[in-house]
Amino acid sequence: MADQPTPDTSPATGSVPEARIVIENCAVATVDAQDTEYARGHVVVAGARIESVGAGPAPAGLRGVTRRIDGSGHLVTPGLVNSHHHFYQWITRGLATDHNLFDWLVALYPTWARIDESMVRAAARGSLAMMARGGVTTAMDHHYVYPRGSGDLSGAVIGAAAELGVRFTLARGSMDLGTSDGGLPPDFAVETRDGALAATEATVDAHHDPAPDAMTQVAVAPCSPFSVSTGLLRDAAELARRKGVRLHTHGSETVEEEAFCHERFGMGPTDYLASTGWLGEDVWMAHCVHMNDADIAAFARTGTGVAHCPSSNARLAAGIARVPDMLAAGVPVGLGVDGTASNEAGELHTELRNALLVNRLGPHRESALTARQALRLGTHGGARVLGRAADTGSLEPGKLADLVLWRLDTLAHSTIEDPVAALVLGAPAPVTLSLVGGQPVVEDGRLLRVDERAVAAEARDAARLLARRAADA
Ligand code: ZN
Repeated sequence: MADQPTPDTSPATGSVPEARIVIENCAVATVDAQDTEYARGHVVVAGARIESVGAGPAPAGLRGVTRRIDGSGHLVTPGLVNSHHHFYQWITRGLATDHNLFDWLVALYPTWARIDESMVRAAARGSLAMMARGGVTTAMDHHYVYPRGSGDLSGAVIGAAAELGVRFTLARGSMDLGTSDGGLPPDFAVETRDGALAATEATVDAHHDPAPDAMTQVAVAPCSPFSVSTGLLRDAAELARRKGVRLHTHGSETVEEEAFCHERFGMGPTDYLASTGWLGEDVWMAHCVHMNDADIAAFARTGTGVAHCPSSNARLAAGIARVPDMLAAGVPVGLGVDGTASNEAGELHTELRNALLVNRLGPHRESALTARQALRLGTHGGARVLGRAADTGSLEPGKLADLVLWRLDTLAHSTIEDPVAALVLGAPAPVTLSLVGGQPVVEDGRLLRVDERAVAAEARDAARLLARRAADA
């Protein structure tokens, strides 16, 4: 990339309404409703938003251009949107590596129950740094472990996202169904129902910004059918709707969860969640692997979204979600890294490829997903399930300038003519530039807001401290 800043460039670039960034001479995949692409085109950013996108060079005579970027050899796409993650797991990676979901959870709960605020901050910085470096511009964290006396965990992750400069949704999770009540987590790892609800409401009040260009939003997110009481699920849905925020949980992840629901509630996970108010346009669920035709139809009818996490589902032998059937039915689907204790890579761009590959191993074979559909899942699809598609998820005039310039002219990709195929099917492409709201977050593969080595060292220290604390308990 040849970057030619004009002499008046300053750190305030992008924050002044008339300041413009011009990116041209690159391939453009807009991921708009028609999947419009330009083999050689441009994007003009004015302030925090996209001003124009099109073929050929940028319009002549633009004023206030503070940067003009020659994107030759590059592809520009909307920034990646991660729709499911657990940041704290960054400090418990590589453990219980040969387990299914329930055995893996039981192995890890005792360690997770000993996290504190400084550990969660270090883990969040690690998770966010890894994703941002790989082209994520909107992140989310479903945090559901709140040990008593552990500090302000929600504030720690929100602060880390603000520091990295990415757009962020905190899904304030909770668990209140301990082992003695028939749940999976140990009693010492759960909150009370009233305590969880009050803390969730306080988090929404303190941090949720409803504005279209919000950097921080909060969702209400009790953890799963096997770790949360029916009463908390119902009350959480009521709380979210009273506050006008979104709802998130895990659903239909494994055969074991399906058996749990049938045994305890006499119905499958989707029917159970529906009975507690958990289907609707304001809801998205992680996984949704074990869905029958009626479950998929119910999601489509109600507009309930799905966060598809192919690597985590494979790591925990959960199964293959029926993404082609969901898309055919009209279900909104985004992609998720999931926690890095079940997807150690912690990157979203690998999930584009894995979503395509995993679904081709299912019944739809080679017609399961195209490369362009995979890119859509990781961008517009994620924005849609997070309730952000009006302002992010595609490159269109008026939308927020959340975008990534991927380098495709190196050894890894230079022989792949189709840039979208190169991005999705090739090795992870280097990020030359990532903008969030017109503000640079990554340049030439380097995070601009944090020292990557310091983040790595701090997270390693936190992981070792947590392991010692768990061993001593
Ligand atoms: Zn998860």
